[in-house]
Amino acid sequence: MNRLSSGQLPPSLTDRFGRRHTDLRVSVTDRCNLRCGYCMPLEVTFKPQDEILTYEEITRVVAVATRLGIRTVRLTGGEPLVRAEVDRLVRSLMAIPRLEEVALTTNGLLLAEQADRLARAGLTRLNVSLDSLAPERFQAIARRPGLDRVLAGLTQARRCGFRSIRINAVSVRGLTEREIVPLARFCRDESYHLRFIEFMPLDAEAGWTNDTVLTGATVRQLLESTFGPLAPVQGGDPGQPAVDYDYADGCGRVGFINPVSQPFCDRCDRLRLTADGQFRNCLFSTAEWDARQVIRSGGDDHNLAQLLVDCVAAKEAAHGIGTSQFQRPDRAMYQIGG
Ligand code: SAM
Ligand code: SF4
Repeated sequence: MNRLSSGQLPPSLTDRFGRRHTDLRVSVTDRCNLRCGYCMPLEVTFKPQDEILTYEEITRVVAVATRLGIRTVRLTGGEPLVRAEVDRLVRSLMAIPRLEEVALTTNGLLLAEQADRLARAGLTRLNVSLDSLAPERFQAIARRPGLDRVLAGLTQARRCGFRSIRINAVSVRGLTEREIVPLARFCRDESYHLRFIEFMPLDAEAGWTNDTVLTGATVRQLLESTFGPLAPVQGGDPGQPAVDYDYADGCGRVGFINPVSQPFCDRCDRLRLTADGQFRNCLFSTAEWDARQVIRSGGDDHNLAQLLVDCVAAKEAAHGIGTSQFQRPDRAMYQIGG
């Protein structure tokens, strides 16, 4: 184990396979106002509020992580905008020296009300999840209504100055095929960067099988049959899991995040902090490192730094989906933070 002596912090969070970690996904809540079948159960008991890190505790953890080399933070959940005053957290994170970016992933339902405050707090980037443009299909997938609010949220976010908004759509075989072309058309017309994400085995109801994954390659073929050949974008950001393609007519770009059919574990630069204060080194990690316990038992920043170093040191080479060793984590996506 890499032991830190007091006063010494390692220059970077590099694991046994040489991967340097610069991105921290921070979940601010396990609560949500939708019930997407690929993520949450319909009936759910959330963590009690006193088990969830306060904004001050999150800021402290991120400040320590930034001293170890974290440069970007993505706030997620559950649905981050259901937690009161997320803009207050954004503001305090943006004040951390050397932290370059604070982004947020949201289902968009509460975005119209909060976009202005988030922009003024300095939020760098917005990802909005949207699986369908047809109200009844949206409701079938999210198991609650709300499409009109997501669309209003997108419009308002633009008005408040957010540029390069990304739209994320999960691809589930037998569920989302019909949504692909309308979503692509909408994102081309409105200049949103659309990305399709393969369904991962993190659904609370454990319905995932290999056959339920609508692969990025299949989605790409469907798009090409409508919009013509897609050309891979050369020299993309290697830290980004998405592989981007340009449309043949030059009108926009579409990305594919293929964690199941084309795992990108070899270039993973992410760590995670759950809403209840556990560090994870992978979405599929079966172990956690308890930052909340360190903080609430009076541990100092060195103790927190050591915990994160230990978490990185234990990271596996790959998630192993599709292999006989693969073990589903106990927690579902909304409890980890996607
Ligand atoms: N509630 C917010 C949202 O939906 O954007 C943030 C949290 S959500 C867990 C983050 C992302 O994970 C969303 O884009 C969602 O579509 C995606 N997601 C959830 N469950 C998934 C699964 N089983 N496989 C792939 N992506 C999933
Ligand atoms: Fe909620 Fe996001 Fe999970 Fe859908 S994907 S249930 S919006 S946390």
